[in-house]
Amino acid sequence: MISVFGSANMDLVAYASRAPRRGETVTGRMFRTVPGGKGANQAIAAARAGAEVAFLGAVGDDGFATELRETLAVAGVNVERLRRVPGPSGIAHIVVDDEGGNSIVVVPGANGAVTGPGKEDEAVIAASRALLLQLELPMPAVVAAARAARDAGVPAILTPAPSRPLPAELLDAVALIVPNEHEAADLTGASSPDAALDALLDRVPEAVITLGAEGALYGSRSGDRLRVPAVRVKAVDTTAAGDTFAGALAVARVEGRPMAEALRFASAAAALSVQREGASTSMPSRADIEAAFAR
Ligand code: AMP
Repeated sequence: MISVFGSANMDLVAYASRAPRRGETVTGRMFRTVPGGKGANQAIAAARAGAEVAFLGAVGDDGFATELRETLAVAGVNVERLRRVPGPSGIAHIVVDDEGGNSIVVVPGANGAVTGPGKEDEAVIAASRALLLQLELPMPAVVAAARAARDAGVPAILTPAPSRPLPAELLDAVALIVPNEHEAADLTGASSPDAALDALLDRVPEAVITLGAEGALYGSRSGDRLRVPAVRVKAVDTTAAGDTFAGALAVARVEGRPMAEALRFASAAAALSVQREGASTSMPSRADIEAAFAR
């Protein structure tokens, strides 16, 4: 079992020729609500990639809460430990313009009320083969979850997004960090992925830097280095490619696949996701990943 301690958000996406300026109203051409949040996305990615997954987090007491819970459950994620707290669920208010650029306001809502894994959450983490973490919950809560994992001998896999400075106590408790190129540069100040990888390995035993269409770079403190090319595909929407990659990577690792193979499995899953629109709607099934992986 893989546990995910993280955020669930409803993405409220308006498509317009451009984002409005202050005081202005623009008429958009389409609107949709899409379940998201990095935690929920990684949970769904891992469940669809074939693992048993438990989601640890919180939604509010609004209609979005019902839809978020339902979306996770339909994907096969265990939501027994998804708490319902008073107030609104987390949302991301997004305007996508005609050039594909976006402006986003995230309101954490229920995610911001998560103070840490409770005793029961800690028991779920301890019974897991891996814990997936991101940075859309309050930092002290993320640190507490990473420590619970480390104390139980469970590897914590951290996607350090959205980018922000990381306390040493978090890095000390993480087994594998999976930033994208920008996050890796923010974290280390290094100007190349190779240099960033070296800097990350000073602080964490294993690291993967994802490089979009350029693939991914892996390193370990014991001296392993691997470069995995991305699968060449026509990208339609790269939203949640990183979350799909992290979810699938965790699945392959808990299945005991060697890192080179796990990275190829994750790349195959992420390449499938970029060929489809949306976040949770774009994550490939185990069968799809295996078929792509075999090619
Ligand atoms: P990123 O978060 O953009 O670094 O992407 C995460 C992973 O998704 C990459 O390591 C690739 O495996 C995959 N990916 C992202 N963009 C593309 C693309 N345009 N074509 C194929 N794979 C991609």
